[in-house]
Amino acid sequence: MAKHGASAIALVAPPPALDCAHVIEYATVDDSVTFEQRHTLNVGGEWLGRVPRLAICQNLDEPTFMVFHCDDEWSVLGVAAGFGSADEAKAKVERSYHGISGRWIASAFSRDDAARLVAENLKAHSCSFCGRTPLQYQSIAGDAVRICNHCVDEFHEVMHSDAES
Ligand SMILES: [Zn+2]
Repeated sequence: MAKHGASAIALVAPPPALDCAHVIEYATVDDSVTFEQRHTLNVGGEWLGRVPRLAICQNLDEPTFMVFHCDDEWSVLGVAAGFGSADEAKAKVERSYHGISGRWIASAFSRDDAARLVAENLKAHSCSFCGRTPLQYQSIAGDAVRICNHCVDEFHEVMHSDAES
């Protein structure tokens, strides 16, 4: 994504889905928001600090809400999960990001938009040979044509089975 200066970046809305979750509401952390490190979100042994973008998200098959902590490009840096409602999630965020409460914006994208994007992403990264999606394989090789670990195992077996017959 091209950068056109801080003011333009601040207006950029997130896509319908981040990772595999529907974005419900999002907020930009600007100078009107005061961050307080409350040691609530640990990522890989480090306490996550102030992030420039926050999103309330919901997995497509789960009723609970999550808070995605993101960089300027909406790459997910950390996730706080298990909230019973969007309001509960927002109240928790306010404890670390004072003044964020009035800054939440409802996403223009529906749950169907999110489901469509997730399905497209899964298809774009599926194995060219068996069609398994990223949820169904552990590793993948290739770009224009991709092969998953299951197919590598299968082909390896076929190639080396001649010796026994
Ligand atoms: Zn495969």
